[in-house]
Amino acid sequence: MKRYRFPKGMRPSKLDERKKFYEEEFELYKVEKWFSQRSVGNVRSLDNTVFAVIIGRHSDIYLPEYEGIKNKAVIIDEHRGLEDIRDYILQYLPEGVYYDRNIYEDIKTCEKCGKGYIDCWECEGFLGQELAFDIDPENVRCPYHGDIKEKMRKGQGLSFCMIEFKIVRKLTLKLHDLLKSEFSDIKIVFSGRGFHIHIFDKKAIKMSRDERVEIAKQYSDYAIDEWVTNGEMRLIRLPFSLNGLVSRICLPIDVNDVIEFDPRKQAIPSFLL
Ligand SMILES: [Zn+2]
Ligand SMILES: [Zn+2]
Repeated sequence: MKRYRFPKGMRPSKLDERKKFYEEEFELYKVEKWFSQRSVGNVRSLDNTVFAVIIGRHSDIYLPEYEGIKNKAVIIDEHRGLEDIRDYILQYLPEGVYYDRNIYEDIKTCEKCGKGYIDCWECEGFLGQELAFDIDPENVRCPYHGDIKEKMRKGQGLSFCMIEFKIVRKLTLKLHDLLKSEFSDIKIVFSGRGFHIHIFDKKAIKMSRDERVEIAKQYSDYAIDEWVTNGEMRLIRLPFSLNGLVSRICLPIDVNDVIEFDPRKQAIPSFLL
């Protein structure tokens, strides 16, 4: 198994822990509420949302029958809502659960378009994409662990320490402050390692590819993964799901609580308590 270094108490979740979490602790009504924020017009966003799971790419912990697909993003586009999604999750017991930030009027159109949801920007019924910023600790330079290149060279690209986390926490708040002047419907989510900023303003959802490339460049100093903001990477971790690499709950947090947020003490699933 690959070895990553994380702040104290954080470690990959085992299969039985993933199972316990999704059976007992995964709060579907909160997920439902999350999706109600990104409605465009009369479209029921959740029904037309594509989900995905990654089974064991980074943790190397997976059910043996899924060995052949353990590194892939397994797309879930045929579902009748969150109960179905939970059934899929319990079937695969993945290390991570994601959703597609693309918003479709009817995903059935794009099930058949042949573009595999990747290049659907011109498709009929494509309504836009939630704008997001992924602020990750591996993107900041650490006096002990070096920069991203050094971490990648050691095969430790997903490792992080509290020095890096604290830098990322500050950057998240600074970025949020800047975005506030442009947008009003902004949410911050603890991702398990860093933070995500989601923007639900209609004008953000309607942004073109070119505008996204611009805004990603504009904020590139904030330790963001540019390919998330520019729209190339459309999957993002599902809030309230388990980040199985570090055993933390992916959790929306109030902007006022960000500065004190400590991943060693918060967002802990009950199997670690
Ligand atoms: Zn399409
Ligand atoms: Zn470090």
